[in-house]
Amino acid sequence: MTDTPAVEARNTVKTYGVGASAVNALDDVSITIAKGEFFTLLGPSGCGKTTLLRCIAGFETPTSGAILLSGRDITATPPNARPVNTVFQSYALFPHLTVAANIAFGLQMLGKSRAEVAQTVERVLALVRLESFADRLPQQLSGGQQQRVALARALAPAPQVLLLDEPLSALDLKLRKEMQSELKRLQTETGITFVFVTHDQEEALTMSNRIGVMSAGRLLQVGTPREIYDRPRNRFVADFIGETNFLVGTVVPGGVRLATGDTLAVPLNGHSGEVTLTVRPEQIRIAADGTGGTIPARVTQTTYFGTDTHYHLQLGDGSALVARLQSRAGGDDAHAQGDAVGVQIDAGTLQVLGE
Ligand code: ATP
Repeated sequence: MTDTPAVEARNTVKTYGVGASAVNALDDVSITIAKGEFFTLLGPSGCGKTTLLRCIAGFETPTSGAILLSGRDITATPPNARPVNTVFQSYALFPHLTVAANIAFGLQMLGKSRAEVAQTVERVLALVRLESFADRLPQQLSGGQQQRVALARALAPAPQVLLLDEPLSALDLKLRKEMQSELKRLQTETGITFVFVTHDQEEALTMSNRIGVMSAGRLLQVGTPREIYDRPRNRFVADFIGETNFLVGTVVPGGVRLATGDTLAVPLNGHSGEVTLTVRPEQIRIAADGTGGTIPARVTQTTYFGTDTHYHLQLGDGSALVARLQSRAGGDDAHAQGDAVGVQIDAGTLQVLGE
């Protein structure tokens, strides 16, 4: 990775429509994506991630703000003059052309020599492991293979940045998992900057170097998968990435006091007054009732998920938590419905949320 970012969006605004019906699809988004990064834009439907991708590709012009590629302002540069390529959810292959011809097409349009085209087609087919499929037509391929052809075609002109708009969402679960590691491998092998759009949090966590979480046109948090999962900055991010618990309390010297009267030692980072805390289900431990340093609770429900079991817990003030514990091999649940227990939460696993 070098210092000049591969992609930058500076105060990017994209408004669709006018007057009362105007929608800010992008509401002052600034983002910096490093060279060689696998960067994922993650958020629910309608949050603006496709719009940001289209602004980078040049299919949309921002209402205000700028897009830079390798430090160069390309806000007004037409899509075909940008060193960027896009892979869409629909593979958009030419049905009447063979796999090789599909890949060659764009290279021929760029005026590459026959020898260079042939060499590149061979190279990218090997990259996506479809060497023996060069002469097939798209309809003679599975969905996953067609997606690989679309990837090979997008990689052929060696773009500086590859934009991927939910490229795996048309595939079934097993194939999607396979293609997730395939995409990660392709990105690592080529070193090309990938900007990947998805609404699937697991996909984002498993593939990305960094994730940008979006909601309602805004970029809420940018960080590594671990930062986003372990240190969500606000309720939306905490809730959108995986399962979590929320606890409300009041800041007191040394921590946060819950309505139960128990005080949790938490790093406060300048927060005061009433705050919301979050803790992941797998960070909660369950001890015997009355164990020192635990919060008294009752097990209201247990759900067996195979590798782990979820324990629904109710605290003295009525607030509910879910703990996820590894299931015991061949045995009963560690705790049964109705049991009085003690809830243990380490300070380091609690996070105070901001707005
Ligand atoms: P999805 O995952 O459903 O594709 P998204 O996060 O990619 O969603 P965008 O497609 O970027 O979201 O859309 C952001 C907002 O802008 C939405 O409210 C959408 O309805 C609106 N929008 C997008 N394109 C247009 C358009 N051409 N005209 C008017 N509004 C649009």
